[in-house]
Amino acid sequence: MNRAYVALGSNIGDKAGHLAAAIDALRHLPTTRAIRPSSVYETAPVGYTDQDLFYNMVIELETDLPAEQLLDVLQQIEQQEGRKRLFKNGPRTLDLDILLYNSEMIHMDGLTVPHPRMQDRAFVLAPLDELVSSYIVPGLNRTVAELYQDLPETERTDVRRIESGSIEGRREKKNDRI
Ligand code: AMP
Repeated sequence: MNRAYVALGSNIGDKAGHLAAAIDALRHLPTTRAIRPSSVYETAPVGYTDQDLFYNMVIELETDLPAEQLLDVLQQIEQQEGRKRLFKNGPRTLDLDILLYNSEMIHMDGLTVPHPRMQDRAFVLAPLDELVSSYIVPGLNRTVAELYQDLPETERTDVRRIESGSIEGRREKKNDRI
């Protein structure tokens, strides 16, 4: 059994619905034992700022899947949600990233874990801090809480917790979906 943390993000269409659909798909994998979701955060876009606010969250998985197979599954789920992404850092229906996988450091073609930009992103560290504050991030040798506190305050205030309960089962009316 492996423990993984996966970041979810969406800023097109039914954002909460896309996140809920991803969690639902992960829960139904025969190889996934348990899932603990963070709250949902509404966050300002980073990089290309002329786009809608994002919804972000993190989930904890216990899985039999090796990291590279987990990435394949995540990419299939992105496609199922009709993933669209026009350009780098641009709007997208659903983005799924592996942040952490056990305490491993993985450098493969197409997969780097811990996620190489996680320490710069308040929209990742805020929800991750809810789940595993004292986890020491391999390679950085700092806890998630320390990494979050290290961020400039302006970035920490760009993330706002909007839901502390479950978003599962969330879907807007079919016509509203993308
Ligand atoms: P993006 O759509 O910006 O999330 O980037 C997706 C690309 O990043 C894919 O081609 C993945 O192979 C690659 N990638 C590298 N490391 C990771 C990771 N830890 N989690 C998800 N995607 C990753």
